[in-house]
Amino acid sequence: MHKALLAAVVATAGFSSAALAQDLTVGVSWSNFQEERWKTDEAAIKEALEAAGATYVSADAQSSSAKQLSDVEALISQGVDALIILAQDADAIGPAVQAAADEGIPVVAYDRLIEDNRAFYLTFDNVEVGRMQARAVFEQAPKGNYVMIKGNAADPNADFLRGGQQEVLQKAIDAGDITIVGEAYTDSWLPANAQRNMEQILTANDNKVDAVVASNDGTAGGAIAALTAQGMQGIPVSGQDGDHAALNRIAKGTQTVSVWKDSRELGKAAAEIAVSMAKGTEMEGVEGAQKWTSPKGTEMNAVFLEPIAITKDNLSVVVDAGWIGKDALCQGV
Ligand code: BGC
Repeated sequence: MHKALLAAVVATAGFSSAALAQDLTVGVSWSNFQEERWKTDEAAIKEALEAAGATYVSADAQSSSAKQLSDVEALISQGVDALIILAQDADAIGPAVQAAADEGIPVVAYDRLIEDNRAFYLTFDNVEVGRMQARAVFEQAPKGNYVMIKGNAADPNADFLRGGQQEVLQKAIDAGDITIVGEAYTDSWLPANAQRNMEQILTANDNKVDAVVASNDGTAGGAIAALTAQGMQGIPVSGQDGDHAALNRIAKGTQTVSVWKDSRELGKAAAEIAVSMAKGTEMEGVEGAQKWTSPKGTEMNAVFLEPIAITKDNLSVVVDAGWIGKDALCQGV
């Protein structure tokens, strides 16, 4: 049916414009489901799309940036009206955004930056996540030798986090109170790689390490395994995501902080933004959107949600939010 005619019919019938979302399909391209959080993000996106009457289709790139490109092509040929992309590799994803733009399909850069002003950037404030990680560790270890376990180099979040961490530690570094004795990216965010890096740094420093700023809960788990093998568990270690295992480590005292980003909120926002852009809303018109300029100078429309630092003192926050059951939290404590 002609669009104007359809609109007239809808108006006459008294349907809300939301009914039009029934014709919409949103495609989500996932990098992988390695971390616990991504299934939560997915459930939230699905639920919000369903509420809007839109259809969810998806693909899992299984950590392959090449597969992610063909995944996006396949979603485009399925006729999606909008795409939500969690990029495996910030550089490699470029042609996918181009392909979507060629078809006039709006793209949400989900959680991770895609350096392209045609994409809408929806994420948490990742620099603030890094600050929160370093602050919580610094409170426990105001002096000493620090190890920085960074994220995957192809993920721009790795450097946003590291930037925030540095901001907090800089003064103490300049004063000579803190020395960074080891620092490494974690290939593919794999806990096993974080563990191996941590082992090597411990060996290189004769175990003279006082604190570990790890960039997420998976890498924190790897670092803590390396510390435990040396009988060093209990020194301050940071993380992020509110993984159930990490929240239990916090309860037990082997991890200091997990910066919690309620991915249920991120998923819901992504679905709503995708639907609204598919309906033709300009990106500037999306609720809460702001203009943001990336460190490389790309000006984008963006929304940043606020993270929350979870330590032993406020574990009730994640329980009260229904993120983890009290029973699940007590496991192994
Ligand atoms: C996300 C983190 C996640 C990591 C590994 C980052 O881009 O922001 O929440 O732990 O990727 O998937």
